[in-house]
Amino acid sequence: MKALRWHGRKDLRYEDIPEPSPASGQLKIKVSLAGICGTDMTEYAKGPVMIPPDKVPLTMGHEFVGHVVALGEGVTGFDIGDRVSGVGYWYCGECYCCKKGYYNICVNQGFTGLLTEGCMAEYFVIPTYACYRLPEMVTDEAGAMVEPLAVALHAVGRGNVQVGDTVAIVGDGTIGLGALLAARVAGASAVYLIAKHRGRGELGRKMGATEVIYLDEGDPVERLEKLTDGMGADITLECVGRPETPQLAVNLTRRRGVTVIVGVFDEPGLFDFNTLMFTERTMIGNSIYIDEGETAIELMADGRIDPTPMITATVPLKDAVAGGFEQLLNNKEDNIKVLLRVS
Ligand SMILES: [Zn+2]
Ligand SMILES: [Zn+2]
Repeated sequence: MKALRWHGRKDLRYEDIPEPSPASGQLKIKVSLAGICGTDMTEYAKGPVMIPPDKVPLTMGHEFVGHVVALGEGVTGFDIGDRVSGVGYWYCGECYCCKKGYYNICVNQGFTGLLTEGCMAEYFVIPTYACYRLPEMVTDEAGAMVEPLAVALHAVGRGNVQVGDTVAIVGDGTIGLGALLAARVAGASAVYLIAKHRGRGELGRKMGATEVIYLDEGDPVERLEKLTDGMGADITLECVGRPETPQLAVNLTRRRGVTVIVGVFDEPGLFDFNTLMFTERTMIGNSIYIDEGETAIELMADGRIDPTPMITATVPLKDAVAGGFEQLLNNKEDNIKVLLRVS
């Protein structure tokens, strides 16, 4: 079968590898669409960041929609032919985090397309617990967005966004814009998007941002204060992962407010802890999702969330580098989520 494999930084190869077969508790999926995630971009441009050296070459990708074509031993609840999407985590079920239901922070965690073979291939295997059947109302394109939406929904949950809250979001990528949708669904009365790119910011406006604050239009903290009677945001979601963005996110947050760190960092951040101490703000971590993938599907099925405006291109898997990865790297104005057509 054909697969898109990571051989090194800026070295993805479309090549033939053997088809996998599902082990006990796993499903074999024939992939229709695979999404390029920010973490895939980081591995492409700066990796290896999370890919372990002994796993190279590795098939990339963890955002997918496809059909079940084979069931591993003992699998129940799925049938061959089911149209499915899913999430990326693999967990042990036995560590103290798993026993408490925090599968997202399993101490023995794996991850599709970073630590195990990914979905940018004609077929891949996935544990049943990371896979969800799609209802008819959810299109393939929307189904391919389940995983990033699950991250956004988990972040809004970690921030405990309530009806009437004012939320600021730092970042105009898929997670930032997904968090905008998730904050709206949670009942936020105002959502301010802190954006770098005009194309993405204007889409954020269409998707429900109360106001878009561009980084190159003066101090974003002053601008947010003006828009919120000097208060700042009740909750800020940092969805970038650059050294300077946690400080910006905290500065945007009101006194005693909460900042959620959602971005994935490839270098340490710079932070003045007095900005927490003197203001009694709280900063909390956010790692992927628990069962928010199912929530994402329910919210898309009844029309409360539509992530499809974020899909800016769909290109064949064989053209993934030129039409996807390079576009996302060099043209962030016009690209947000690029899907790869696998079959
Ligand atoms: Zn992802
Ligand atoms: Zn575990």
